[in-house]
Formats: sequence, C-alpha cells, structure tokens
Amino acid sequence: MKTIGLLGGMSWQSTVGYYRAINTGVEQALGGLHSAQVVLYSVDFAPLEARMRAGDWQGAAGILQDAARRVASGGADCLLICTNTMHKLAPEIAAAVDIPLIHIADATAEVLIRDGVERVGLLGTAFTMEEEFYRGRLGERFGLDVMVPDEADRNRVHDIIFNELCRGVIRPESRKMYLRIVADLGAAGAQAVILGCTEIGLLIRQADTPVPLYDTTAIHAAAAVAWALTDGEG
Ligand code: GLU
Repeated sequence: MKTIGLLGGMSWQSTVGYYRAINTGVEQALGGLHSAQVVLYSVDFAPLEARMRAGDWQGAAGILQDAARRVASGGADCLLICTNTMHKLAPEIAAAVDIPLIHIADATAEVLIRDGVERVGLLGTAFTMEEEFYRGRLGERFGLDVMVPDEADRNRVHDIIFNELCRGVIRPESRKMYLRIVADLGAAGAQAVILGCTEIGLLIRQADTPVPLYDTTAIHAAAAVAWALTDGEG
C-alpha cells in the first residue's frame, strides 16, 4: 500500500470527510484492522481565504507550495489538494513536489464518463463554476457539457460555502436553496450535478433529490484509495 498525501484545511470541515472516506475505503478493500497510510498537512484557511478574496493567487500559491513540500517530505507517495477551488493553483503546487498529483476534476470526470453522463450541472465556489481551470477543464479535456446556475444563484451558492459550510454551519434554509438549484439544473437538462466543492456533501445528500449527485470529496478520496492499493507507480 502506498501513502496518500493530503493537503487539507480548506476547509478543515471537509478534510475530516477525506480522512474518514480514505480510511473506510482501505478498511473495506483490505478488511480486518487495515487502515490507510496517510500524511496530512492542514493549513490555516483564514490567510488563504483573504488572499483569494484579494485576488492574490501568487501569495496563495506560495503558502500551498510550502504545504505540499511538507506533505512530500512527510513520506507521501501522492498528493491530493483537498479542495476544488485551489486546483486553480494545481500546476504551481504540483511543480513544487516530485510526487504525482491526483486531480479532483479529472477523477470526477472519469466517474461521470464511466456512468455515461454527458451533460452535467456544477456547483462550487464562483471560481470553480466560472473559470477555465475547472469548468473549462471538464469541457476541454473530457468533452463534458457543463451547466452552471445563473449569476444570482452562483452568488448564493458561493456565499453559503464561505459563510456557512466552511464554518461548520448547516442551515435548513440553505439546504432548501441548494436543492432548488439542483432541481433547476435537472429541469434545464443536466443528467447529474457535481458537488464541486468539498463541503457541499455536508449540506445535501443523494437521498434529498432524484437528480444524481457526484460528490467530489467522495470521488477524490476513492481515487486516492484505488491509487494507493495499485501496485507500481499508479
Ligand atoms: N472546499 C471548497 C472547494 O472545494 C472551498 C474552499 C476553498 O476555497 O478552498 O472548493
């Protein structure tokens, strides 16, 4: 078994889910008292969020490159950036270490394609829903037709992530709003919706909606487990 490296803390609320999902995956695969070999470095999210809000992506990259080096020097064989949004900096972060990056959007797209999904809704931060590094990547690299909510709903989705979910606040009104937005995407033709922010699975679950949901935290964690349990370089 290889050692999974987690660059977490963005937010820590979702990093807990990664740790649980990865250990559960290894336990289910190997049985008995088996658990995952994990190196976790968890950052302080506040200075990073401030840099994102200020548009200082270079500053954020410096912090995350340093954190990635700590994961690698702790003995990790691969690196997971435990947030969709910070994959905006995936090239810079990956370049700072000599272990492979398991990209959250690629792992998600592979599962969608396996399931025959072609037209998919995307929920996440404004960066994730609007920018090339994520939305564009799904289209260009994987040929997915990606739908996002209108601007007013994108703002609502974004604000709930930072003001509530990243702080561990779960409000029934917000759940209702997210489910309404998921239903709207389904009615507009999305065959499924990507929970493209690692905290959204804390708010809504598959049992809440008939629209198929693809939770990036669960998918990313499963991809890491599969990689760790594969012989060779993966
Ligand atoms: N965890 C979130 C994501 O998956 C948002 C927090 C962040 O900006 O990193 O995008």
